[in-house]
Amino acid sequence: MTDQRHDVIIVGGGPAGLCAALYAGRGLLDALLIERGAHGGELLNTELIEDYPGFESILGRELAAKMSDHAKKFGAAFLTDTVASVRRLADGDFEVKTEMGQTLRAGAVIVTAGGTPSKLGVPGEKEFAGRGVSYCAVCDGAFFRGDTIAVVGGGDAAVEEAGYLTRYAEKVYVIHRRDEFRASAILQKRLFANPKIEVIWNTVVDSVEGGERGMTALNLRHAVTGATSKLAVTGLFVFIGFTPNTGMIKEHVRHDEGGYIITDDQMMTTIPGLFVAGDMRHQLTRQITTAVGDATTAAIAVEKYLAAKKETVGVGAG
Ligand code: NAP
Repeated sequence: MTDQRHDVIIVGGGPAGLCAALYAGRGLLDALLIERGAHGGELLNTELIEDYPGFESILGRELAAKMSDHAKKFGAAFLTDTVASVRRLADGDFEVKTEMGQTLRAGAVIVTAGGTPSKLGVPGEKEFAGRGVSYCAVCDGAFFRGDTIAVVGGGDAAVEEAGYLTRYAEKVYVIHRRDEFRASAILQKRLFANPKIEVIWNTVVDSVEGGERGMTALNLRHAVTGATSKLAVTGLFVFIGFTPNTGMIKEHVRHDEGGYIITDDQMMTTIPGLFVAGDMRHQLTRQITTAVGDATTAAIAVEKYLAAKKETVGVGAG
């Protein structure tokens, strides 16, 4: 049974979803945003935001609340549920099914579902998840007060979060598989100036070991020489990128080799009427600013797409 029809359904309540809802509301579209948890997406996993114009420094959760209130102000409806599937129907409408059993319809869909942290895929990682292994510094950093811990990765997330973790940990090793970071220069500069951080270059984690009370060490391997070593740490924070959450899209859609969805310059995918914005889109970088930029374009493109569709239907019917 189809419960409701909307002009546009927005999947995901991170910066892209909230911004799309704001613009859809301003465009007087009937928009429904579906988010499974709290609004804010990756903002909720970031302590301080220092690269969002107009806010020299703002807490991630504070910016999330501001974005959510702002979207509400322009009339977006919010639903707390998990989207199970998005499918284009023969008449061009979309059917969106949720895990709580709703079947909704919309003229267009904007998916802004972000990604799930990538896993190392090494022995012990799963076993010690939540008992030393973590994918969120803001969520778990405080458990490691006075400890020696490790971070894996060389992107913005690893380099930035390593700094954050030094608030709690006595020492933070950053283990990177190459001999240079891909993180932005300003973040690298801060990391190299932090006396609590030591970088272990050209090294990969082979396994995580520990006992009943949690992880105790990492088995490491030099990526060039193959030499192995053991590093005693009580925590491992993995920041090696994201896997885009595209599973709910039930038809073939063009994507790159990492699973990121390819769109045109209006954020439309290869399925007409299906738009994508934010971290799950194939693009050079994934910032809050690029997510909201994508979302702005997507919401305005949806407005035009729906108007054009109406005209075509009108012409056909006349
Ligand atoms: P990322 O930029 O994709 O970096 C992933 C890092 O993990 C790379 O250094 C990569 O190594 C390494 N890596 C990947 N797979 C690995 C594996 N199996 N084992 C060991 N290392 C592995 O991911 P991210 O740091 O999560 O950032 C994602 C996006 O969000 C980026 O566009 C980033 O700019 C953005 N972001 C921005 C900020 C900010 O501006 N403040 C903060 C966080 C994230 P290689 O370098 O060798 O490939």
